[in-house]
Amino acid sequence: MKKYDIIIIGGGPIGLACGIEAKKAGLSYLILEKGALVNSLYNYPLNMTFFSTSERLEIGDVPFMSVNPKPTRTEALEYYRRVAKQWELNIRLFEEVKSFEPQNEGYSIVSSKGDYLAKNVIVSTGFYDIPHLMNVPGEELDKVTHYYKDPNYYAFQKVLVVGASNSAVDAAMETWRKGAEVTIVVRNAEIGQRVKYWVKPDIENRIKEGSIKAYFNSEVKEIKEREVVITTPEGEISVENDFVIAMTGYQPNLPFLSKMGIELSKDEIMKPQYSEQSMETNLPNVYLAGVVCGGMNTHSLFIENSRVHAEQILESIVAKEARFD
Ligand code: FAD
Repeated sequence: MKKYDIIIIGGGPIGLACGIEAKKAGLSYLILEKGALVNSLYNYPLNMTFFSTSERLEIGDVPFMSVNPKPTRTEALEYYRRVAKQWELNIRLFEEVKSFEPQNEGYSIVSSKGDYLAKNVIVSTGFYDIPHLMNVPGEELDKVTHYYKDPNYYAFQKVLVVGASNSAVDAAMETWRKGAEVTIVVRNAEIGQRVKYWVKPDIENRIKEGSIKAYFNSEVKEIKEREVVITTPEGEISVENDFVIAMTGYQPNLPFLSKMGIELSKDEIMKPQYSEQSMETNLPNVYLAGVVCGGMNTHSLFIENSRVHAEQILESIVAKEARFD
């Protein structure tokens, strides 16, 4: 069984940042990523633009140059690939970690392709793998997606977008611009306050002029092959429909953390237990990094404000001298 001072679970931006800090500290490490490099970003909508400026997404002192101040998904994919190459990061892609458990010497890790022994484990598994389901009849139909990709697919179709956050608004605007007939269903009374400041007036004006039909204080009740039933303040209505884009958010794989023995708060946030200083969890030498730390509160952490976790964790590991001889 191969031994590493640190095994990092998840090759997103924060997992890569942890790998860089481990390398700087001269420790042996391996990043295990279940999908492609920065898999979550890879799966984001094709035309997605970050709300952060590029320098705020930088890791490992590698400059991130983008054409516009806010980089695109394609630029970010290129950037993190260049980072991984420049730092010659030790990373195995398409290898999913199934479990880890304490051993005398550290933690044994079982992945889809092998077994490892790690003195320290960093869990940086993100939040993009599990969509928040609406739990309504018909959600399992092929015409429903929780992962919107490309507006061209929806040209001249009747599209229902669920949600009012950045992802929902982007999907509604993009598909409308490609000729879709768009209806948006919003649980609250208005478009989300966190929607990018340069996009919010655009959708609000499209709704005001009637180009996009919006139902506020409303919820999807049922999805059928040719229509969708919506509960509105005025009562139940039925809308003709070809596709549903459910931008209802995502949640981290908290059962995975819990199964590994990481404590979660008992409230609805289910925030994992860790030290804000060292990022160490209730399991000795097991750390959390990145957006997974927020539990169900997935908006509290993002790349900009969680890339610092990598330094905090490595400071703790180095101070404890937690390494194999
Ligand atoms: P992730 O990037 O999600 O990486 C986690 C990785 O772990 C994934 O690649 C996943 O495949 C892997 N993984 C999961 N489980 C396992 C396992 N068992 N074994 C192996 N690998 C596993 N943030 C910003 O700072 N600025 C922005 O402008 C911004 N814009 C965004 C726009 C959109 C549309 C979305 C959805 C998010 C945006 N974010 C932004 C948030 C940001 O993308 C995330 O906060 C960021 O990806 C978090 O990085 P991470 O490394 O913690 O997690």
